Amino acid sequence: MKIINLNPDTAIRATAWFVEMEGHRLLMDAGTHPRLEGRAGLPLYDLSRNEELDAIAISHCHHDHVGSLPVALRHFPQAHVLMTELSYFLVERVLHNSVNVMKRQREELGLKEYPLYSHDEVDSLFPRFQGFKYNREVDWASFHKTRAGFLSPTLEFHDAGHALGSAGIMVRGRKETLFYTGDVCFHDQTILSGARFEDVKADVLLMETTRGNRQLAPGFSRESEIERLSNAILRVLQHRGSVLIPAFALGRTQEILALLAILMGEGKLKSQPVHIGGLGRVFTEIYDLESHRTHRQLPNLELREALNLVVLGQEQIEKMKFAGGRLFVITAGMMSENTASFKLAQRMIGDERHAIFFVGYADPDTPGGRLKASKPGEPFLLGPGAGKVTRRCEVEDFDLTAHANREDLLDFVGEVEPRVVLLSHGEDDSRDWFTAQIHARYPKIKIIQPKPGEAVEV
Ligand SMILES: [Zn+2]
Ligand SMILES: [Zn+2]
Repeated sequence: MKIINLNPDTAIRATAWFVEMEGHRLLMDAGTHPRLEGRAGLPLYDLSRNEELDAIAISHCHHDHVGSLPVALRHFPQAHVLMTELSYFLVERVLHNSVNVMKRQREELGLKEYPLYSHDEVDSLFPRFQGFKYNREVDWASFHKTRAGFLSPTLEFHDAGHALGSAGIMVRGRKETLFYTGDVCFHDQTILSGARFEDVKADVLLMETTRGNRQLAPGFSRESEIERLSNAILRVLQHRGSVLIPAFALGRTQEILALLAILMGEGKLKSQPVHIGGLGRVFTEIYDLESHRTHRQLPNLELREALNLVVLGQEQIEKMKFAGGRLFVITAGMMSENTASFKLAQRMIGDERHAIFFVGYADPDTPGGRLKASKPGEPFLLGPGAGKVTRRCEVEDFDLTAHANREDLLDFVGEVEPRVVLLSHGEDDSRDWFTAQIHARYPKIKIIQPKPGEAVEV
């Protein structure tokens, strides 16, 4: 089979994989770069311009995996889009929100090429989307009559435990198989249960490596980390400070809300409004509505019932008084400039009573990454628009990752027993760690790190 890495960058960026297997062609994921703006943040679709594509399969609805789907569909007007049923409920909201964000960036940053697609275009594409249950074999290449008569490859979504609807994708041909992990989490989170990748065997494994550069401290446990976060929130609120938790709208927001609901339910945290963003509210609603169709903990926990969720408007972000202790769980997770979390952080940063708690990865080149690296009392550049600021508030990092720990992924490689492993979705040092470890533990497996735009025959 032939696989082309269409990601324009070497690290975790715009994910998109072109796969040709037994004469059929599939695109897996159609992301956008979280930092590069405009067309520079798109996958290298031109490299597969002349290929006729049968289908696009989406692993999950985070922007780095789905954000350029309408652009991909312009390149591949014949392709159907396949995803899990749960992603099917989310994808339209994600894409419409992207249009809104791009329109805002066009105004604020003067990006004339934005939006890269319109609301109308998103609406017009929806009939081409199809949702499937986990663990159903789907005949993705037989949509086109010209191919009738061939025994075409199939595809199957496996629950990846990363965010609602997330999946690893098994592609089965007559002679060979490919498994793509997407973003995967093997351990249980507060809501979502860990990935169900049991009995996955494949000739070729295409694997994320997000946490390859992250060694767990001795004695680390997710439970102790949750307790540390809970205690920190209680402490700040008791001193009448406010707590900001920057979080992705899909997944991380609901996981943190569930934690707050448990704390309030147990009486440890006094009931008080939790401020969230508009998109966070929409996804929270879908988490609640789909709770009994999801492989998860606490299926009866309805976040909207358990918590007093208040959607924060633009005006409030600028005028709200923080005295008395408020709670914000709000986008963007990396505090990109001009987002709600960024604007709130700007207002909170100079007051030592307040706290900003990170619960996920923030690229070092984002305001969130720079804030994490900052020292109290020392001025630092928050962002080009915001200029230098001095932080007096508390900043703390909690490891509540929705990505697999590297040891678990390494074990998984052994279970899959692939002939070839392709490493992706990680920084250079992450992929290098996996290369060394896989080489040492499974010397027969060939390891490839496909460069941006590189086509590999495996
Ligand atoms: Zn993701
Ligand atoms: Zn990702």
